Amino acid sequence: MTRRSLQAEIVIAGGGLAGTCAAISAARCGADVILIQDRPMLGGNTSSEVRVHATGADCSGGRPHAREGGIIEEMRLEEAVRNPQRSNSMWDIILEETVRREESIRLLLNTSVVSASLTSSGCIGAIGCARPWTEEELTVTGEIFIDCTGDGTLGAEAGADFRMGREGPDEHGEPHAEGPDDKTMGCSLMWIAEDTGSPVEFTPPSWARKFESDEDLPFRGHGEIRHGHWWIEWGGELDMIKDQDHIRQELLACLFGVWDHLKNHGDHGAENWALRWFGVLPAKRESRRLLGPHILTENDIMELREFPDAVAHGGWSIDTHPPKGIYSPERPSWHLHSDDVYGIPLRSLYSRNVPNLFMAGRCASCTHMAMGSTRVAATGAAMGQAVGVAAARCVDFLCLPEDLNEEDVASIQQQLLRDDHFIPNVRNEDPSVV
Ligand SMILES: Cc1cc2nc3c(=O)[nH]c(=O)nc-3n(C[C@H](O)[C@H](O)[C@H](O)COP(=O)(O)OP(=O)(O)OC[C@H]3O[C@@H](n4cnc5c(N)ncnc54)[C@H](O)[C@@H]3O)c2cc1C
Repeated sequence: MTRRSLQAEIVIAGGGLAGTCAAISAARCGADVILIQDRPMLGGNTSSEVRVHATGADCSGGRPHAREGGIIEEMRLEEAVRNPQRSNSMWDIILEETVRREESIRLLLNTSVVSASLTSSGCIGAIGCARPWTEEELTVTGEIFIDCTGDGTLGAEAGADFRMGREGPDEHGEPHAEGPDDKTMGCSLMWIAEDTGSPVEFTPPSWARKFESDEDLPFRGHGEIRHGHWWIEWGGELDMIKDQDHIRQELLACLFGVWDHLKNHGDHGAENWALRWFGVLPAKRESRRLLGPHILTENDIMELREFPDAVAHGGWSIDTHPPKGIYSPERPSWHLHSDDVYGIPLRSLYSRNVPNLFMAGRCASCTHMAMGSTRVAATGAAMGQAVGVAAARCVDFLCLPEDLNEEDVASIQQQLLRDDHFIPNVRNEDPSVV
């Protein structure tokens, strides 16, 4: 192993949509950024190796006024022009190109954040990274760190307060909280299938699960079989991090079991269809949530609570799934719809006890219930853009997130609005805007 040290003003762990947008946003504010991603491509759950599509506050068109602007829209528009065939690999490249266009971002792919060391004031001073494909071990120092790993790995290594599992109704007064326990939503594996035009046989592996009748898959409709089903979900009763091997194996057995059901058990119109691709890296819905000065709750969302420090918005339903996943006799998802979009405060996007740590995406400071809504990819991207600007302000002002005062927050909001971002109830005060 070669040991190397790198330094940047802002260091971001995790290159899903949240981390990607945070990096671009911080760089466009003039910051020197390192973006560290453990996979060979950007995009996280939306990348070609997982293939979940990005939706957001507009609820896939149900709330057209609520669609995110800013960096995620810029990349979606680019994709609409250059990738009408919707190739997932081309989406990866559009994300990477957008990052590489920013000269002040150093992108480290195939690099995992594995440790953090703290300064005497409890800030993160440096992080350790493993980069086996170049036989390197890196030490990366920075002023501000952003955790977009989805697992809150950087935060956990730094000793940040976090929560995993479901709160009880007494904790935050959430009427629909189902805990307290440590259960989460499960992971899924997706597939892509193709109509070959003539009958194709399918022999499942011997270890595939058996779903011999439709009653074995209650409430789980097949609809469009071109894409695999999000409800092939499992692992919510296990440890979402430490039990990943077991979760992957069981999900593969379920995926082949469902495909076997479609092909060989009943008429599902699948006679001519063949699997062209299937995932082997489980798509994670839920893991650690790092805790900030504010924990966004079901009530905040349902009451459309106004936050003076709102910096992003969400609008997807509170969409939670039974931890037993595919083996649950219940419906595979349960939805609670707010009347309109809601604001996400900056105080839910930085750690309450590690002073120079922001977070965005799946590991933002939310209850399990609120995360049921904020977890969708474009909402994570909007949070990422917001923390990118806030982190760059901290670098400019030589301050920590908790030092940002009302005036600073107003200036962050105005910068975000100038960059085509949307924040509920915050008006663009730029005099050149008519
Ligand atoms: C099956 C499924 C279906 C879904 N359907 C939808 C949908 O239809 N629409 C929608 O918008 N959302 C959907 N979601 C939710 C959405 O995909 C995710 O919540 C969203 O992608 C989260 O974005 P993120 O950037 O926070 O995290 P992720 O996309 O998980 O990205 C985090 C990235 O960080 C990397 N990473 C982790 N640890 C480290 C480390 N230590 N060092 C470096 N990098 C690290 C990971 O490899 C990953 O690439 C679905 C999720 C699942 C699982």
